Amino acid sequence: MTDLARARVLGLLLLWPSAVLSADYDAEIAALAARPDVRAAMSWAAEREKENLPRLIELTEIPAPPFGEAARGRRFAEMLEGTGLRQVETDAVGNVLGYRPGTGGGGTLAVVAHLDTVFPADTDVRVRGPELDANGRRRWYAPGIGDDSRGLVLLLTLAESLEAAGIRTEADLLFVASVGEEGLGDLRGVKHLFREDGPRIDQMIAIDGGNDGRVLNQAIGSYRYRVRITGPGGHSWGAFGLANPAHALASGIHRFERSARTFVASPPRTTFNVGKIGGGTSVNAVPFESWAEVDMRSESRERLEGIDVLLRESFTDAVAGHNDRRSRGDALELQFEPIGRRPSGIVSADTPLIARAQAVSRYLGLEGELGSGSTDANVPIALGIPATTISRGGTGGGAHSLDEWWSDHQVVTGTHKALLLLLASAGLSD
Ligand SMILES: [Zn+2]
Repeated sequence: MTDLARARVLGLLLLWPSAVLSADYDAEIAALAARPDVRAAMSWAAEREKENLPRLIELTEIPAPPFGEAARGRRFAEMLEGTGLRQVETDAVGNVLGYRPGTGGGGTLAVVAHLDTVFPADTDVRVRGPELDANGRRRWYAPGIGDDSRGLVLLLTLAESLEAAGIRTEADLLFVASVGEEGLGDLRGVKHLFREDGPRIDQMIAIDGGNDGRVLNQAIGSYRYRVRITGPGGHSWGAFGLANPAHALASGIHRFERSARTFVASPPRTTFNVGKIGGGTSVNAVPFESWAEVDMRSESRERLEGIDVLLRESFTDAVAGHNDRRSRGDALELQFEPIGRRPSGIVSADTPLIARAQAVSRYLGLEGELGSGSTDANVPIALGIPATTISRGGTGGGAHSLDEWWSDHQVVTGTHKALLLLLASAGLSD
């Protein structure tokens, strides 16, 4: 079915009760999974999962710190070429892209996993295991193994399964290993992917963490700043009376905490955190600089804008107060240096991509509700492009810690979920 035909059908279905809508998608997924070519792809993927460990280990053991993903990207590009994709390239920021042309009429579906980890370059990323947990399940330990090396392996498995089963999709498929998903990477890879003159993408599936039932439809946005207050600085005795950046910073944090606490008491959920503070040179010197790093998050863009205003007002008032009270020296200056901006948004549960993801979960007997998170999907969601994030297959824990682990327990379920969602969303040619 073409996008347009789908839109028409959906338009009609939207007038019906949502139970009818989900029953319709349940029927669609059951029919899809019954096709011989799809069955072939599913069993091929299940077989491949038995052999996937070596390349999971290999990718995990190539360090990919923020802004240092190139080596892992190069190896992943080689692996992606080996899956039968004809066109594999690395873009200007380091994203690895692999194209699989469709038969037409289905737009472009992007499937994305991220290359980067949160760990610095000198972290020991050797994989340990398997060790058996209390239930006798095998676990492998290494920083980044589940988040998101395993996602990269799932991308490869998806591409190979389509090829092995000779499946042609209507939509063009774009497999992407993105850079800069984590922390200060600030989603730079996917932001670049969705730049104005970038490839046209109509839907996106991100593969990243979480349990098999995961269907993300809500993007938690965040604004992050380094708030910096600077002044002349001087001796604590001799220059007493100067406006003091540390005092002004503390008073700014106090004002912000007081007003933000009231602000976040009402929904949608919004949070704030002063995560780091610093500055100054000595206990007996008025600092010439003091700073704080602030993280604010919300499900809603309006709320983020609202708390952003409170942050600015609080520090502006605090600095003005300290400037008024000083008896000597130049005035303090205040700067808000942005160090992160992740857009927020929501995809309606009725959107085909989300409805299909949930239908696939039901088909596979998975439990899970719609959820929220901060992932590569934030960028398309904020642009109004349907996107979701689903699991990388298997189970895991300790993400972003040195004790991160991943288990291959029921890994095939997650793989099948990704495969069925990809096929349902991309449409199959007969
Ligand atoms: Zn991740």
